[in-house]
Amino acid sequence: MEEKSTIKPRPLKDTSVQYVKGVGPRRVQLLDRLGIKTLEDLLYYFPWRYEDRKNFKKIRDLTYGNLETIVGEVIAAKVITTWKKGMKIFELTVTDNTAFLKCKWFNQPYMEKYFKKGQKVILSGAVKGNPSLGIGFSRMSLTSGFEMENPDFERLENDDIFIHTSRIVPVYKATEGFSPKQLRTLMFNTINTHASSAKDYLPEAILKRNNLMSLEKSIREIHFPEEFNNVDTLNRGTSPAHVRLIFDDFFLLELGLALMKKKEVLETGISFKDKNILVDKFLKNLPFELTNAQKRVFEQIRADMKSNLPMNRLIHGDVGCGKTVIALLSMLIAVDNGYQACLMAPTEILAEQHYINIHKMVEGLGLRVALLTSSCKTKDIEGIANGTAQIIIGTHSLIQEQIKFKNLGFAVIDEQHKFGVVQRANLRRKGFNPDILIMTATPIPRTLALTLYGDLDISLIDELPSGRKPIMTKVFFPTQKDKIYSLINAELLKGRQVYVVYPLIEGSEKLDLKSAVDGAEAFKKIFPERKIGLIHGKIRQEERESIMASFKSGDIDMLVATTVIEVGVDVSNASLMLIIHAERFGLAQLHQLRGRIGRGNYESYCLLMAYPPFSEEAKRRLKAIESTGDGFKIAEEDLAIRGPGEFFGTKQSGMPDLKIANIIRDVWILEAARKEAFALADPDPTLKNYPLLKNTLYTKWHGKLELIKS
Ligand code: ADP
Ligand code: MG
Repeated sequence: MEEKSTIKPRPLKDTSVQYVKGVGPRRVQLLDRLGIKTLEDLLYYFPWRYEDRKNFKKIRDLTYGNLETIVGEVIAAKVITTWKKGMKIFELTVTDNTAFLKCKWFNQPYMEKYFKKGQKVILSGAVKGNPSLGIGFSRMSLTSGFEMENPDFERLENDDIFIHTSRIVPVYKATEGFSPKQLRTLMFNTINTHASSAKDYLPEAILKRNNLMSLEKSIREIHFPEEFNNVDTLNRGTSPAHVRLIFDDFFLLELGLALMKKKEVLETGISFKDKNILVDKFLKNLPFELTNAQKRVFEQIRADMKSNLPMNRLIHGDVGCGKTVIALLSMLIAVDNGYQACLMAPTEILAEQHYINIHKMVEGLGLRVALLTSSCKTKDIEGIANGTAQIIIGTHSLIQEQIKFKNLGFAVIDEQHKFGVVQRANLRRKGFNPDILIMTATPIPRTLALTLYGDLDISLIDELPSGRKPIMTKVFFPTQKDKIYSLINAELLKGRQVYVVYPLIEGSEKLDLKSAVDGAEAFKKIFPERKIGLIHGKIRQEERESIMASFKSGDIDMLVATTVIEVGVDVSNASLMLIIHAERFGLAQLHQLRGRIGRGNYESYCLLMAYPPFSEEAKRRLKAIESTGDGFKIAEEDLAIRGPGEFFGTKQSGMPDLKIANIIRDVWILEAARKEAFALADPDPTLKNYPLLKNTLYTKWHGKLELIKS
């Protein structure tokens, strides 16, 4: 026996691939490139598609123009040089005793060394050639008229047959130096030796109820289908093996969320009283009436706050629906009860904006509002610790170690998707289980909300304040500059203000893109009599604040900016936004940017300046943003264009990544998994009856669930 077998069996996740038979130091590196470090990674490196090689086409039966696969034996292999251009062509001729097939590779003379006469090969490619030559079996010319150019190929040894042919074969994404075939061989051997070590951690009852295959069997079947070998089902990801493994992805995600929720429910939070001194005063001064949706959501929050269970609620609603007012009202309940309240924003500029807005809104209430950003001063830190500050607005700097609150009772997190569960837990620890309210301006489809925010209660503001007019949105090209300038001029003449958004701060040699700094100079020349402001991330905080204040007060007519103004900026007199290089922006970003206008009662215009040529995706994005203002429709389209992986961004939110599940395709499995997860967590929030599941869960959450262990 070889030395490797003396190594004591270890959990799959702790066993480096270097201990796998057939993996040497070089392959360790190559596998690493594919993200495979452990034996578990390897077993969970699933095929991205399958080929039906149970029945190969006979060469005689090939169809011109189709993508086909044959197995045959090499009869001739030679490099020829064309006499005109001196191009080298490698020609391979194979037969399966029904006809000949000729394959050509251009300018790859080295191919010759891969093939020898008599060798068995699999060839897969588009069938070409000259049909008029017929399919005769001409021994003279070794041709049947069938040809393939640059086909995929695999060379077979005799004992390869059952791995690479005669079955449904898995196809893996491979890497240079490690071909799909080599990977398949490695996988075949690995599955045979190690699949049995995959211990099923799902409770028996869940397997039964959902008709799920065992873990070991599903790992075997997903790689080398035996029992369930319908190639279409496999390629659609709906085979029983797929369903089981997709279920696991969702189940482990949802179970983590369920436990978090349960843990919080088990703790005692603050029970706020109905004092309502500040709340009533504030409502009396409010220049508008709350929409019905706002009222409903505020009542939900108020009920949560009265209860002594810690609140974890998400306000979900399109840009401009009025989330901030509701958040502020809720903070006032906390302050009415003698607690501090804070609001955490994802960027400095947004924190500053919230600070300016809130400061203004609570004027006359005699409240002490503080701003804490990365450049925080000792005075602010002290004010937070000794309770001088009652409402604190800040960035993630709020959760820094040195920040201590006197008595934080309520925390608002704006733009949750940019923070995630870990920061939320950290913020919670800054107080005595403060109630937490999360605001997201990214309208997400319901299924995504369930998953991303599975541990939260959700309130939806599904109504915009009355009087809002749809924003007219249109794509323009560089040749239409004059039209754009005259539209801008018309708005300025009406006394309105304008945003111009650029993708870059300064010109770059690498990217041929317009920049905000250059843009501001250009607009000063085009509108010499107007006051033009420039704002971006590199400008110092005090200056930024004063520029935003001047824009707000109307001193600045036109604000040239980068995407720092994407969220939160609220100037209702601004009625036109010009977005330069709109083709470069993501759909959600365009929607957020556009949300800066149309906040008052004026007709508003969003002009998208696009610089061709641009991709199909960019075209789709521009079309989507032009045709609808509905954030939920835009989110769905965004999801469709980008795919769930990127949209979902589980990594940054601290959640486990989904190995195989597709949140759109597999919603039905998500719902089943979520139901089971919550049902399991409810009676047994420490999973004491399921140690193996508990272990798997904590690993999958990369220790993030430590926060809720015990
Ligand atoms: P969101 O945070 O949801 O994008 P905001 O809370 O910033 O929206 O509100 C957008 C604008 O609408 C703000 O200027 C706010 O003062 C105003 N607003 C909020 N609620 C109402 C309402 N019920 N009626 C009229 N205007 C409102
Ligand atoms: Mg409460």
